[in-house]
Parts: sequence; structure tokens; C-alpha cells
Amino acid sequence: MDQVAFRQLWRRFAELVHANKTALNELDAAIGDADHGSNMDRGLGKVVEALDAGPEGSLRADAKLVGMTLMSTVGGASGALWGSGMLKFSIALPDATVVEWSGFIDALDTFVEALSKRGQAVVGDKTMMDVLLPAMTELRASAEAQESGEEIVVALAEHAKGWSDATRELMARRGRAAYLGERSIGHVDPGSVSTALWFQALADTVRAQVP
Ligand code: ADP
Ligand code: MG
Repeated sequence: MDQVAFRQLWRRFAELVHANKTALNELDAAIGDADHGSNMDRGLGKVVEALDAGPEGSLRADAKLVGMTLMSTVGGASGALWGSGMLKFSIALPDATVVEWSGFIDALDTFVEALSKRGQAVVGDKTMMDVLLPAMTELRASAEAQESGEEIVVALAEHAKGWSDATRELMARRGRAAYLGERSIGHVDPGSVSTALWFQALADTVRAQVP
């Protein structure tokens, strides 16, 4: 992935979240405080501005900009998680304009690892980790099977949507929704939906890159 694609990925994610802002707020209204769509939309708008104004030449610098911007503008649990995770992600990226697909997957692993540590959520807790953890397992397996980047991310975007839908049946054990206990069952977790949109943005970006 090169710097043009990396910036396009965040632009696309911002577009998708913007288009789903109300829906994400509504999901959060059911089991939280109704701000997830607004939080992410505000932060990603700033991310796009920061990347447009950012210096060319380094994916690591770009990802650091993304992390710092998300930390300072998103707020809430998701801001702290996405922001700090992206800072770790940036350290794992090369100080260059291009990263091999395998290096990108490694960096993503670092991101997911950082979120696991910070948020302490596991699969089944009804959080964004219900998408991120299986996505990482799938990415690793398909990369080892030497599938093409495009095939992998297109399938992954579909699966991510499915994992996010499946959070409906779960009882929240982490985050604000955990206060509701059993009353959280029957509602999809908003953070898992926005995370699935990130994988959709990744698929859209990689697909657009392939001639
Ligand atoms: P807040 O809950 O502070 O209002 P948001 O509404 O922006 O923050 O984000 C809520 C989302 O954050 C949840 O839907 C969930 O996916 C995610 N989340 C909350 N706590 C955790 C955690 N400990 N680990 C992973 N993700 C979490
Ligand atoms: Mg909220």
C-alpha cells in the first residue's frame, strides 16, 4: 500500500461514517449515549483535513497524524482506542511511502494488539473487538495462503459486516453498554459497525487501486 492509497482509505472511511452517522448514533442511543456516529464523524473529518495538509513521504508520519487527530477529536471510549491504537500502528509502519501487504498486516496486528491490551475486551464482549479479532485471524490465514490483497479484503469486508451484525445477540461486558447487562441483548454494537465500515473502506480502496 502506498501513501496515496493510505490517504484514500481514511477519506473513504470518513465518507462511509459520515453517511452512517445518524444510524451509528441511533445504535449507540439504544445501548450507550447516542454519540458514536457524531464522535467518529467529527474525528474523521479532522483526520482528512490533517492528512490533506500533512507532509508527503512517510506512511508512519501519516498514521501518527491519524492517531493524534483521533485521540484529540473523537472523545469517548472509541477515540481513546482508535487514537492510541493508530499511534502504535504508526510505529509499526515504515518511514517510507510504500509498505508491502505483509507489512501492512503486521502493522494492523500491532493495532489490534494495542486495542486488546487497552480495552481488555475479548470476542463475545460485544465491542469493536468482535470484528477486529476475527478479522486479524482471517487476514493472517489468507496471507499465508498467498491470496491476493484484493481477494482478501473484499471477502473480509463482507465477513466484518456479518461479525458486526452478530453482536446483536451478545450481552455487553465492556464499555458503557455493559451497564445495561441483559438489556443490551437485541441491539447491534455501534463500535463494531464503524469498524466494519473501516474494512469496507479498505476493500473499496484496494479495489480502486487494482487496474
Ligand atoms: P462512549 O462509549 O465513551 O460514548 P463511543 O460511543 O464513541 O464511546 O464508542 C462506543 C464503542 O466503543 C462501543 O460500541 C464499543 O464497540 C467500543 N468499546 C467500548 N469499550 C470498549 C473496550 N473496553 N474495548 C473495545 N471496544 C470498546
Ligand atoms: Mg457513546
